[in-house]
Amino acid sequence: MLDSRSASSIAEIDLRALGENLRRVRERVGRRDVLAVVKANAYGHGAVPIAHYLKNNKIMPALLGVAFLDEGIALRESGIADPILLMTGAPLAQIDAIVQYCLSPVIFDTETLFALNRAAEAAGRTLPIHVKIDTGMGRLGLPPSEALSFIKTAADLPGLAVEGVLSHFAYSDLQDKAFVAQQMARFQTVLGDLEHKGIKTHYRHMANSAAVIDYKPAYLNLVRPGLMLYGYSPAENTPPLPLKPVMQLKARVIAVKKVPASTSISYGRTYVTQRESRIATIAIGYADGYPCILSNRGMMIAKETLVPVVGKVCMDMTMLDVTQVPSLRTGDWVTAIGTEGDRAVWADRVAQWAETHPYEILCGIGPRVHRRYIGS
Ligand SMILES: *Cc1c(COP(=O)(O)O)cnc(C)c1O
Repeated sequence: MLDSRSASSIAEIDLRALGENLRRVRERVGRRDVLAVVKANAYGHGAVPIAHYLKNNKIMPALLGVAFLDEGIALRESGIADPILLMTGAPLAQIDAIVQYCLSPVIFDTETLFALNRAAEAAGRTLPIHVKIDTGMGRLGLPPSEALSFIKTAADLPGLAVEGVLSHFAYSDLQDKAFVAQQMARFQTVLGDLEHKGIKTHYRHMANSAAVIDYKPAYLNLVRPGLMLYGYSPAENTPPLPLKPVMQLKARVIAVKKVPASTSISYGRTYVTQRESRIATIAIGYADGYPCILSNRGMMIAKETLVPVVGKVCMDMTMLDVTQVPSLRTGDWVTAIGTEGDRAVWADRVAQWAETHPYEILCGIGPRVHRRYIGS
């Protein structure tokens, strides 16, 4: 493994910023519990180091949320014993491992429910599960009309404990408030039915980051923020919350050259210099998660100066016009996401140039990029 001095690109991850963002969530939701979403390797930031930071600093939330079995196993094998919610469910082929590693799956069909119960019973365990209701996302979950009988059935199984009931919003930014309210009402109806029948579940949850920021009715007694922990708001128009981006992405300059006017740069010759130019070649490309669509569009920061990406982004390299930065040399670092001096290019801005959202930019940062943790 390379150390950061010899790396070609670095994602610098400020764990204290993550801790502060979590504190903001807690300030906002008061005494409710928090599930920290660390799926997709904690949105590219590294789920294992983040979980250990939370644990070592005694700020571990009530649950961690992952998408897939491997992510849960990686946390368990690194020594994390805290509750982990497996948010995409429990494929039959994975049930034994789920029981073995004591992961709490989200459940939404009876075949899985019974198979999981048998496996848990055989292992002499009571496995916590969370039952998912589809209130309008159209992805995972039972129709609200089937929720009550399903949960009653589940509650009677000796190998399982229904620890939670959840649903998920169809808008990560809660843009359509009418639909948001409709989903919330459907979920509240299910929760009301459960209460009426005297069925108690420890957790009831629906709030993603956007709801934590801007929709109190969804707080219930557990919130499930992801993106905001990493420092971004999912919506442009939400009330400002002082979140701190956790990751900065830096890449090394591997060549700088002066070229005459009318020189074409990179594949397809999509950029041709208008004047004599200094072109820097940077050690990051689309294989590292710097998207191709940023060709002739993106900007990076070189010595506190904004500089444009010129020509096509390649697999391993990207070219910048650094004519305005005469002091930039081979071996220096430039910032693709982050801040230098009073210049900043954060993932939300990169996402705008790339016609996507910050989620995809952050998750896309590839495994070749060396992760360096500060504040641990
Ligand atoms: C990813 C995810 C979240 C977190 O969403 P953010 O918009 O990142 O806060 C919450 N709940 C579920 C089920 C998810 O899949």
